[in-house]
Amino acid sequence: MTDAEKTASISPVRLGLSSRFQFQCHPGVSCFTQCCRGINIILTPFDIIQMKNRLGLPSNEFLAIYTEPHLLEKTDLPMVTLKLLDDERKSCPFVKDKEGCIIYADRPSSCRYYPLGVATLQHKEGADDDGFFFFVNEPHCKGFEEETQWTVAEWRKDQGVDLRDEVNREWTDLVVRKRSFPGSIKLTEKAKQLFFMVSYDIDKFRAFVFESSFLKRFDVDAAMQEKIRTDEIELLKFGMAWLKGVLFKQTTPEEQAANFAERHNPEA
Ligand code: SF4
Ligand code: SF4
Repeated sequence: MTDAEKTASISPVRLGLSSRFQFQCHPGVSCFTQCCRGINIILTPFDIIQMKNRLGLPSNEFLAIYTEPHLLEKTDLPMVTLKLLDDERKSCPFVKDKEGCIIYADRPSSCRYYPLGVATLQHKEGADDDGFFFFVNEPHCKGFEEETQWTVAEWRKDQGVDLRDEVNREWTDLVVRKRSFPGSIKLTEKAKQLFFMVSYDIDKFRAFVFESSFLKRFDVDAAMQEKIRTDEIELLKFGMAWLKGVLFKQTTPEEQAANFAERHNPEA
């Protein structure tokens, strides 16, 4: 059991978008930055794009320096968590005692949601369904003693996770669908590698699209090619749509790429 799991408990209360709670976090709280130690932070594809750009690193270097690979429970899908420092408190590499988070504007979605958790990614006992939120109760967190009231929807908007969730929507959907499959259905190693590359190593995926035979094999029109060459978010969305077709065999990869291009062709 990790330190985070020892100290944090998940409230059995299932929260929806209109659920209310009382919370505020600011540098004046006595527990300031305690939640940035001994934590388990799952990184989403959008988190990685934001953070590696913030740090000026290619995606493979960011992954090597700042992340640890895992398999997401009940999905068999590769995921990555933020690698903590090897200090006594297992600190996040981006936390400073006085300043707090030094990448605050680009902090991951999990940090933005806190003290809420999202059932889709934090699959644990008491949170055994998708599409709802819950409290991560950590004894040291004094934020619940503050008076500001929120609905879950207001908190998501205030923290900017509503927009980030939208970018990650296809990825989350893919994870949820895979989780609904019987455990006996396993992905091949090749499929897991593809999932990892598209989800987390966006520079490698760009090279895969533009520097391999991908564009000869898959019909992607010129407008779409230009879009995904210059816009990482569009490349991520394209990759997810392509990946869904490949992993779930709804269509062939060629059909999936062509369908995506057709749906997103501004002249169509
Ligand atoms: S990324 Fe920032 S907010 Fe998140 S744990 Fe690290 S220091 Fe804290
Ligand atoms: S423990 Fe809670 S109140 Fe304290 S800094 Fe972290 S989120 Fe804010």
